[in-house]
Amino acid sequence: MFIIKCPYCGERDVTEFSYGGDATRAYPQDPAQATPEDWHAYVYERDNPRGWHVEWWQHSQGCRQWLKLRRNTLTHELGRTALPHEPLSPDDDEGSDA
Ligand SMILES: [Zn+2]
Repeated sequence: MFIIKCPYCGERDVTEFSYGGDATRAYPQDPAQATPEDWHAYVYERDNPRGWHVEWWQHSQGCRQWLKLRRNTLTHELGRTALPHEPLSPDDDEGSDA
């Protein structure tokens, strides 16, 4: 059990959130020109990081907004959260508020 800090609502229990996947994946720049291999890589190829990772979460039982969360996949330690348009990298420990 852990607490996630929603940028809109503040600290809330994890049970109010839904996991949305890897937030480090980039959608193909020009979808009309993307090859089947590009789409295969985007949809199926995933790293399985051990350590800090940036993930999408939705506050599905609250404000329903999406956010990025920095989480350590080994220890479940939480780093800071960010709005969808804000940059957040797995190595970003600045402003950690977990
Ligand atoms: Zn919220």
